[in-house]
Amino acid sequence: MTGIAQNLRTLKDEIKDFSCTIVVVTKTHSIEKLQEAYDLGLRIFGENKVQELVSKFEVLPKDIEWHMIGHLQSNKVKYIAPFVHLIHSVDSLGLLVEINKQAQKNNRTISCLLQVHIAQEETKYGLSFQEVDELIASDTFHRLQNVKIEGLMGMSTNTSDESVIRAEFKSLKTFFDDRRKNQAPVDAWTTLSMGMSGDYFIALQEGSTMIRIGSALFGARNYAQ
Ligand SMILES: *Cc1c(COP(=O)(O)O)cnc(C)c1O
Repeated sequence: MTGIAQNLRTLKDEIKDFSCTIVVVTKTHSIEKLQEAYDLGLRIFGENKVQELVSKFEVLPKDIEWHMIGHLQSNKVKYIAPFVHLIHSVDSLGLLVEINKQAQKNNRTISCLLQVHIAQEETKYGLSFQEVDELIASDTFHRLQNVKIEGLMGMSTNTSDESVIRAEFKSLKTFFDDRRKNQAPVDAWTTLSMGMSGDYFIALQEGSTMIRIGSALFGARNYAQ
């Protein structure tokens, strides 16, 4: 068995008590590696850069669902709008307006998650809880016909302190549940994307429905390649 197959087996065994979607984070990895993952039955791939996402989409089988998980600039939305399955990283109303415009041009509806900033680090993108509320309450948002918000995404602080990570995921889950209950326009929220290789187990315990897994499947990334 190859490394990826073995890692997938270990992962699936660890998460067997939870029902969740695995987004295979393929960034920096070669087409050969992605094909290997595909051959193991994996069909949901996530990338964090538009150019890499597009070039991999072009050469790999067309039944792969491509997710955009990284920061997205408005001027690049047009390149992924024809095919992207889910954008995890919507962090402004302006970006959502552009996604809507490009979705319209392609005659489709694009599914999105709002990225919420739950970590302590300054550098991570995302909306505050208050900004999410403002966005979903805005008239502009209600006029957008070609985007569908399916839920939220969050990344925890990069720390070895599990209690910090757990508290951050818990706060996002609480907000997610509360807004689902109380606000008509977010009735359709079904997806809570939280958890990566280092913290997916905590994320699942705290209610994640979608985990984004790279290095636990492919091994460490080599950015120099
Ligand atoms: C790279 C990345 C991941 C996966 O990271 P691993 O630790 O390798 O699992 C998940 N989410 C986002 C947004 C990423 O950029």
